[in-house]
Amino acid sequence: MTMNKPQSWEARADEYSLYGFTDLPSVHKRGAVVLTHGEGPYVVDVNGRRYLDANSGLWNMVAGFDHKGLAEAAKAQYDKFPGYHAFFGRMSDQTVMLSEKLVEVSPFPNGKVFYTNSGSEANDTMVKMLWFLHASEGNPQKRKILTRVNAYHGVTVVSASMTGKPYNEVFGLPLDGFIHLTCPHYWRNGKEGETEDEFTARMARELEETIEREGADTIAGFFAEPVMGAGGVIPPSTGYFQAILPILKKHDIPMISDEVICGFGRTGNTWGCQTYDFTPDAIISSKNLTAGLFPMGAVILGPDLSERLQAAIEKIEEFPHGFTASGHPVGCAIALKAIDVVMNEGLAENVQRLAPRMEAGLRAIMDRSDHIGELRGIGFMWALEAVKDKATKTPFDGDLSVSERIANTCTDLGLICRPLGQSIVLCPPFVLTEDQMDEMFDKLEQALNKVF
Ligand code: PLP
Repeated sequence: MTMNKPQSWEARADEYSLYGFTDLPSVHKRGAVVLTHGEGPYVVDVNGRRYLDANSGLWNMVAGFDHKGLAEAAKAQYDKFPGYHAFFGRMSDQTVMLSEKLVEVSPFPNGKVFYTNSGSEANDTMVKMLWFLHASEGNPQKRKILTRVNAYHGVTVVSASMTGKPYNEVFGLPLDGFIHLTCPHYWRNGKEGETEDEFTARMARELEETIEREGADTIAGFFAEPVMGAGGVIPPSTGYFQAILPILKKHDIPMISDEVICGFGRTGNTWGCQTYDFTPDAIISSKNLTAGLFPMGAVILGPDLSERLQAAIEKIEEFPHGFTASGHPVGCAIALKAIDVVMNEGLAENVQRLAPRMEAGLRAIMDRSDHIGELRGIGFMWALEAVKDKATKTPFDGDLSVSERIANTCTDLGLICRPLGQSIVLCPPFVLTEDQMDEMFDKLEQALNKVF
């Protein structure tokens, strides 16, 4: 019990919140931004200030913050059948319809869907499926997981072990058996004189050498985001997936595409794997799946894994895994509507149409700045990397200091964007208009000019 209740919203947020993924010096100095509502791609705080949210909430509010059709779909389902699980041979009609839809829009001719409440849980679920499958097929030692440095796959113990960020060391993670390969970021990790094709070939060699060193019979699967998101928007080097997929196939290692960010339009196609022209063995989906209106994740298994896993489960008669809210009818009703909105209400087209404009605008900002070393991205996901020296790509000292200062200055100007490492990430909602994009460019450049 607190005797003297703090008065302002900011002080109350501070008093009662244990902040996650938040730079405490910034929030102590500035106070948390406490929001009440949104309008299209804008959010509004308790003091009536509007911010253009170039972060789409957390990549997920792709239809903006006040889409009427989505809210109506949620309300209609809450009125009709507000909740149910997907266990014991029971599930809602909405759950059946969403699974059908997900397989229909997936790159797989046949497939099966399993629901979770988040992207982290979907990745954990996929790992458990692989461990279970390999053990059932007589390979209980096939348990190691391959991912990459800078990958983000979530925060649960297993998905955090898959995540390739140094901050997981504070938890004593990763667990043993999670192996992080080099991040395929040519601009930063390419060697002196190495062409991009040579770099990609080196990434493929590293994969093959790792498999040979560890033993293919000990490796359960390889997980990758088509474009790394929380790692700082890092598209793969040219031909990366085409170089690594045959190696994984040769060694019988399933390839899982973590499309929590890339899925449903972010890269300009329904799936990131379509943009980069490869077919994985399974897809992990979340975020855009419900346009941010409901916490939901999904594992979408391709035909080979579906068939083998089904056979493995038949042997023990029951797959002992699932969450209370798996396949929640309201979440499924929202997801069905969200898929329709993104694919049929012009949102996906808007991303395709405006992506070149976004790239050109950000490139012009980079060209005018002495301290932006790289622009990278695709569709509606871009990052500008801050450097002390453009010619040598020397980073600024300290990890978050410069990008955090840029993001804070943007917030002061009414633009929300995300500092990730040394880069500033822009991933606006798909409903963004040309004028709103210009506002984003203008505020970002003002912030850069103030900080540099
Ligand atoms: N995978 C990727 C690629 C993500 O970007 C995220 C979250 O940002 C996750 C998994 C984890 O999802 P969640 O935060 O819903 O657990």
